[in-house]
Amino acid sequence: MPQPQRKFPPWIKKRLPAHPQADRTRDILARHRLNTVCRSAQCPNTGECFARGTATFMLLGNTCTRSCRFCAVEKGAPEPLDVSEPERVALAASEMKLSHVVVTSVTRDDLPDGGAAHFAAVIRELRARMPEATVEVLVPDFQGSRESVRVVVEAGPDVFNHNVETVWSLYPQVRPQADYRRSLRILKTAKELKPQMLVKSGLMVGLGERPEEVEEVMKDLLQHGCDILTIGQYLRPSPQHLPVVEFLEPSHFERYGEIARRMGFRAVASAPFVRSSYNAKAVQKEANSK
Ligand code: SF4
Repeated sequence: MPQPQRKFPPWIKKRLPAHPQADRTRDILARHRLNTVCRSAQCPNTGECFARGTATFMLLGNTCTRSCRFCAVEKGAPEPLDVSEPERVALAASEMKLSHVVVTSVTRDDLPDGGAAHFAAVIRELRARMPEATVEVLVPDFQGSRESVRVVVEAGPDVFNHNVETVWSLYPQVRPQADYRRSLRILKTAKELKPQMLVKSGLMVGLGERPEEVEEVMKDLLQHGCDILTIGQYLRPSPQHLPVVEFLEPSHFERYGEIARRMGFRAVASAPFVRSSYNAKAVQKEANSK
């Protein structure tokens, strides 16, 4: 039985003024037939990011083979792989004049490499068409495949991101088909393969985790080569998804940010509306300045 949505506290309300640039962004994405995680995952920052002319491309279709209980992306039978997608992403990114391109995907457990070669093709296409742009990938766990991580890393992204999403104890409820240790290993493998590449991860809070568990995640991420951390408030996409256990006040996010910086992360974004690709360019710059 779905539980009722908790009332939003004042700091969770976001105004979305109409902006002509947002229409332009939508038009480019539609013309190139591209999905974005912004819309598919009902990201609360979509209006703001589209108005700034940015978006996070979502590869490999609009249907995920997993059923994480926090995520609004459609679940079910995946679509056939479209070999024209890498070029379409690069064309759209170039038309949008992005200086930092973020690409993610649904999880494709049906593909032998989890879609790693497709990510690599997108990176190569972006490098060819936009040599000045930096590229950030937000990848699934590839079911722990070191080979898939190698394929992506060798294509040369500037930032390799894989989100742990939540604390270890909540995995069975939040990410039933994932494994916390496997996700950590993905990050470690990426760092070992290319130590100079920035490695990034993030989690949502408000799902019932304890603060000491969040600090445990920070320590684990640092031990597995992570340079950048993002922390944001979990928001329930629909009554069918996990309920919000707590809306953390902004001061709690500041506190987590301070702890993470003190522990040694090169860049941290921690605030209620932070999502893993929110302000990604600025966060990458901050990490590079250290
Ligand atoms: S694997 Fe990713 S896209 Fe798929 S349901 Fe989980 S969070 Fe959503």
